[in-house]
Amino acid sequence: MPPTDPRTILLAAPRGFCAGVDRAIEIVDIALQHYGPPVYVRHAIVHNTHVVADLEAKGAVFVEDEDEVPEGMPIVFSAHGIPPEVRERSAARGLDMIDATCPLVTKVHYEALEYAASGRSIILIGHEGHQEVIGTMGHAPESISLVETPEDVFALDLPADADVAYISQTTLSVDETTSIIAAIRERFPQARGPKGDDICYATQNRQDATKVLAERSDLVLVVGSQNSSNSKRMVEVALAHGAPAAHLIDSAADIDPVWLEGVDVVGLTSGASAPDVLVTEVIDHLSATARGAEVERLTVVDEQMHFALPAKLRNLPLAGAR
Ligand code: SF4
Repeated sequence: MPPTDPRTILLAAPRGFCAGVDRAIEIVDIALQHYGPPVYVRHAIVHNTHVVADLEAKGAVFVEDEDEVPEGMPIVFSAHGIPPEVRERSAARGLDMIDATCPLVTKVHYEALEYAASGRSIILIGHEGHQEVIGTMGHAPESISLVETPEDVFALDLPADADVAYISQTTLSVDETTSIIAAIRERFPQARGPKGDDICYATQNRQDATKVLAERSDLVLVVGSQNSSNSKRMVEVALAHGAPAAHLIDSAADIDPVWLEGVDVVGLTSGASAPDVLVTEVIDHLSATARGAEVERLTVVDEQMHFALPAKLRNLPLAGAR
């Protein structure tokens, strides 16, 4: 097929920042303004290289371990959540703790604590090594078994009549999680769990929009970083729902001109941790490449969600008080 320029850029909504990411970034911004730099942040506040670089430029210092933070300094816990022992070690070092854990992740932590307290074996559906999974498992380490596939469910070393409950990571593929829950229900019909799953509204909405986008696009571009679970799932969803091609890009610079050959409609969306300015840059890049390409908005869900700041940060003086 001869190379052609895309004529339509189909722009999905909702896309980009969710309420938990908005809140986490605002928390670091407020901490920087109140305390003055440096403010230490344990783990990437959200999984996006541009957000992290932007906050670093303002004076945030990202660490992977609370032991790296000088005693008495402020430390922000990332949106993905932490195991309780991180809080205990931070308190022992006299760190000034500010928790940016998304409230929807905290909800899953409470589910884990409740199920463990009632003596249930907990099946956590999630990806091994992901920061959120580490934090959730830390809330009931003796009770939780991690599964990533239906096969993992059938391989669990639990009796058929085990008192089982399931919980899940918030940023999984809705379709894959449904198949894993079906396996849990097949093996443990008595299993308790949330209504549906713990996948958050933002993950669900972005995947729903991506499905519609995929049906109408020759190529789907998802703006997001490689370590962003929800962004990676959106690429998988696009491919599973009819997009001939789909790619995860950190920015416009990642677009390979070969991808655009023979493409009429480019579907464009972004993960929950990707700033919209990067989407605008992709539109500018495509418009410059494909002269005359028109942007068509595709709104699948009207999303209105906001999370309150932690009580500790409300009404703080913002003068760089330290
Ligand atoms: Fe919270 Fe969902 Fe956003 Fe994660 S993706 S920060 S769980 S709203």
